[in-house]
Formats: sequence, C-alpha cells, structure tokens
Amino acid sequence: MNIMWFCIPAHGHTNPTIEVVRELVKRGHEVRYYSFEEFREKVASTGAHYISCDRFLTPLDKASEKRMRQVSTTEMSVRSFEITAQMDGMLAGEIAEFQPDLIVSDSACFWGKLTAVKYKLPMLCSTTTFAFNRDSAKYMKSSFKELADIVLGMPRVKKAMAALRPLGYEVKSPLDIVQNTNDTDTIVYTSARFQPCPESFDKAHYRFVGPSVRAVLPKEKTGRPLVYVSLGTVINDHPDFYRCCIEAVHGQQLELLISCGRAFDPAQLGALPENVTVKEYVDQMDVLSRASLFITHCGMNSATEGLYMGVPELLFPLTGEQRAVARRVSELGAGRLLEKKTAASPERLRAAILSALRDEGLRAAALRMREDFLSCPGPKGAADFIEGIGGKAKR
Ligand code: UDP
Repeated sequence: MNIMWFCIPAHGHTNPTIEVVRELVKRGHEVRYYSFEEFREKVASTGAHYISCDRFLTPLDKASEKRMRQVSTTEMSVRSFEITAQMDGMLAGEIAEFQPDLIVSDSACFWGKLTAVKYKLPMLCSTTTFAFNRDSAKYMKSSFKELADIVLGMPRVKKAMAALRPLGYEVKSPLDIVQNTNDTDTIVYTSARFQPCPESFDKAHYRFVGPSVRAVLPKEKTGRPLVYVSLGTVINDHPDFYRCCIEAVHGQQLELLISCGRAFDPAQLGALPENVTVKEYVDQMDVLSRASLFITHCGMNSATEGLYMGVPELLFPLTGEQRAVARRVSELGAGRLLEKKTAASPERLRAAILSALRDEGLRAAALRMREDFLSCPGPKGAADFIEGIGGKAKR
C-alpha cells in the first residue's frame, strides 16, 4: 500500500505513531510521513519517507506565539486552517504522483483530514488522546478561560475557514474536523479500560491498540526512591512549581529529577540540593523504569507511559484534555490529584509525595494498568487494522 501519514508538530502526537509506522514499513508498505524538522530523525528512523513541511508554518507574531504556548483552541484552529491552505499546492502534486491508497491522519491534524475529504481518499484516524465523541467529551470539561477563548475567537476562525473553501475544502467547524463520526476508522493508542465511555465507540471502526511505547522493562528499585517531575513538552514554563518541588524534597531521603523543558534557563531555579537534578529533556521511558512516583501534567503520553511502567502518579493537569486524563487515572486508583494549593506549598507537596510513596494500593493499581496495557494488541495490532482498512478500500 501507499500510505500518506499526517501529524501535527508535537512530540505527544508523533511518538505513539513511530512504532506503528516502523511495523508498516517492515511489512513492505510505502509510507510518506508529512512532518517537521524537529521530528525528522524520529520519523526517518522508521524507514518511512520523511517529508518536511516546515516551510508551510507561517511565522507567528509574539501574541500568537504566546497563545499557541497556552494551547489556545482558537489560535491552533486558525493556524491549522492556514497551514492547510499553504500545503494545498504541494499536496495536490504529491497525491497525483504518489497515488495513495490510504491517508492516515492524526485526529487533530486538519490538513490530513481535510485532504482526505477533498480528494475522497480512504482515511484512518490516528488518535493519541482519548477518542472523542459526545460521551467522552463530558470528561473534558473546559475551563472558563478555555471557553472564552473559543467564543471570542469565532470571527477569526470563520475567516480562516472561508479562505479554504475556494480551494475545495468543505469545512463546517473545527469541532466537526476533530470529532470523528462513529464510522471513521480509528486507532486509539490506549486500552478500552483507560478510555472513558469505551462502549460508545463502534467496535468495527475503533481499535484501542494500547500504548505504542518503546518496550522498556521496569528496573529493580534500590537506594533512595526516585520522584520524576515533568509537565510535558508544550506548557512546561512553570518555574514556581519546580521550585516548590525542589523545596518539598530538600533534606528528604528521596531523589528528584525534573525535566523542565526549554522555555526558561534552568539556572533560574537557583542552587540545587544534592538530591535534585534538573534537565531540559530526558529519556522519559528510561527514567520511568527507575522511578517510584511520577508527578505529571497528565499529557496522554506521559500519564500512559507512567502507568505502562507501573509507576503511581501525582496528577497536576493544566488543560481540559489533561483534566480528563487525570480523572481517569484517579478513577482507576493509580494516581491522586494534586490540588492547586498543594502544588503551591512545599509542605503540602512533601506530605503528598511521602503519602503517595507509602500507598501500596496506588502502586498495585498502577501495576494493574501495566498488565492491562501489556495485554493490548500494540503496534502490530494497529498495523493489522490499517492493512485491513487499506485492503477494504482497494476492493
Ligand atoms: N518526553 C520525553 N522527555 C522529556 C519530556 C517529555 O521523552 O523530558 C516525551 C514523553 O515521553 C511523551 C511526550 O514527550 O511521550 C510528551 O507528550 P505528552 O502527551 O505527555 O505531553 P505534551 O508534551 O504533549 O503536553
């Protein structure tokens, strides 16, 4: 099969696709993966043909850049429509020349989904978050700020959509693009157990293939327990929170490792106690294999990777989507929510960390999730499903 694979420029959306693409290439399929320089190495390592799309990312002014960092729905929608328009000519050429049998598009990748509709090509949706429909959406309660962003941004979004129509794209609304119908063939990189309202998704069209992560074995825990902190790769500019974590473990029989991202200079955190290490980026699976507790922002990938390694979690979500993940982890008993006032007080945070480390129930629930994830079909199952869809489309 000839497969065009589309993803947005985000580690969290790219990482789970890598092993699936590797498997498809191994099986002899030709995959053209439309991505961005930051992800070139990862994508090329699968054997897929990496196609750089950086030139279609229009420069952002300071205000838009700030809103993008805050994951503003308006800003992301407008930008996605602009990128779709920018890519139109290139994609027309690619389709004519490559003659794809199937388009695989990330659930949030407007240009992938809209291209499939424009050219009436079979499309499969690759979902790195929870699968999204009216039922599961109830888990993703937006904050007042997030709702205001959507309402106030409507005129800009409408204008960006109108600019696409003359190019042949049928667009009703951003929600219409992101929310799949029940008969959209979809792979979801989690288990049915972790997904909210799994019964509301059509079994013939949805495959909960489980986490698509590098298989790393948990290591034996010796020495001081390791507490790992990460707020992911997007909204990680929270030096006050990291300072609070550092103060919380000062003098404790613990090790703390913070992955703080590249948004600020780690030197801003001041002198570090001997039991604290701060890095801009780490090999997260390797760290989790040694960790006893994960303080996470509940990005879908991070929360999943923690549970995959059987590590209990303290949950510090910052967006609606992350609150949904946090709610599921806590419903499954494998994590505890960190209240804002706990996250802002070293004393309260210390108590929360120590109590979580002592809690056998929390650990047992995290290990149950590990078992559940290990029993999922994984990247091979995802590739089987994709081949099935491609085969159906050809007939
Ligand atoms: N990640 C990593 N090292 C780091 C921080 C993050 O490898 O120091 C990876 C992490 O393993 C995960 C992804 O980046 O796969 C973050 O995705 P997630 O959905 O958790 O959060 P986002 O960054 O999209 O908010």
